[in-house]
Amino acid sequence: MNQRTLKGEVHLEGIGLHTGEKVKVTFSPAPPNSGIRLRRTDLRDGPEIPARIEFVTSTHHRTAIGQGKAEIQSVEHLLSALYGLEVDNILVLVDGPEPPILDGSTLPYVEALLEAGIADQGVARKTWRIATPCFYSNDGVEIFALPQKGLKISFTIAYDHPFLKTQFASFPITPEIFRKEIAPARTYGFEDWVERLRMEGLIRGGTLENAIVIGEKGILNKTPLRFEDEFVRHKIGDLLGDLALLGVRVEGHIIAIKSGHETHVEFMRKLREAIQMQDEKGGFDIDEILKWMPHRYPFLLVDRILELSENRVIGIKNVTINEHFFQGHFPGQPVMPGVLIIEAMAQVGGFLLLHRVENPKNKLVYFSRIDKVKFRKPVRPGDQLRSELEMIRFRKGLCIMKGKGFVGNEIIAEGEFTAVVVEKK
Ligand SMILES: [Zn+2]
Repeated sequence: MNQRTLKGEVHLEGIGLHTGEKVKVTFSPAPPNSGIRLRRTDLRDGPEIPARIEFVTSTHHRTAIGQGKAEIQSVEHLLSALYGLEVDNILVLVDGPEPPILDGSTLPYVEALLEAGIADQGVARKTWRIATPCFYSNDGVEIFALPQKGLKISFTIAYDHPFLKTQFASFPITPEIFRKEIAPARTYGFEDWVERLRMEGLIRGGTLENAIVIGEKGILNKTPLRFEDEFVRHKIGDLLGDLALLGVRVEGHIIAIKSGHETHVEFMRKLREAIQMQDEKGGFDIDEILKWMPHRYPFLLVDRILELSENRVIGIKNVTINEHFFQGHFPGQPVMPGVLIIEAMAQVGGFLLLHRVENPKNKLVYFSRIDKVKFRKPVRPGDQLRSELEMIRFRKGLCIMKGKGFVGNEIIAEGEFTAVVVEKK
């Protein structure tokens, strides 16, 4: 399957569910491998926020993403529509802090996107197939991911409420099924939540026109339910929106029990880690790395590139006791020198940069500045150092990247890297 974007621009207007503010969103086509990005056009310089788990800032009754001072609330319905319709690359312009809730479902988004038309970009899409089961459990919430051809979501909700108790639904997810069975399902809340949520400054824009409100004896809305099990179908849509935060298409069966945005995002983090551990066909092995990188022993600090896209790279270095630097750093208590952690991260960034220039064989990457470096934990023999870098600017041969180094789930080091590309002599 190839990557997809829109054929043209399309706009939607409405009010945000939580902020109650009037807002306009514009969906705009974007190049292959650029992913889903949101831009706050009402803020100075129009800051962009990639729709990915690293940028999640809140999961309380909604999913919010942000970077620096820019934040966008309640992105899950918009992302659900994009994921459900298999749109890979898009720029979403939002002129306020929250996209519109519309009728509380994702259908108006779906209709707008289909009206713009979906375009095949002629570049192969990368799909992550769940190869080994992944399991998450937390305080009564359980989420499983199992191998399966295509994507399938099964969901169970269970409330201790006189009207709404347990609902279960399960659907294979294709754009057609999504549009018909999932997208029309509206968001919902219980009558006795309303007071508390208002106190928390949420649902300021909530009305019976954009949410189902459930009372003791039934729904308070005048319009009937769109499906008998509309509630659980909406949760499947929300899960798809949170799944979009992985930044890649997933193939597998996801089974969620009583989960919400917070647990979804925690599960996505786990899932991404599990997926990265799988031997990835889309990555670059050491033979390939040696073709691109000028470094050699003992100064090549990348073993494998797991993921590479236009603005982002993930690479690993397996740190063993045989590393030359452990002889002296320190005898009897080996820890990897901090400067070499930074070097390993910089080399992964260099790999990304070399993929963005013409004639990379004749070029070298020099780092001219490294800022905001923090070391959080030591790296020891046996650790796998995973460097994740995001290109935040690339102009006239000068590139700025933000990077984080991880061992497992823990951040080891971080920093901001400025590099220039120079001709080899
Ligand atoms: Zn929702």
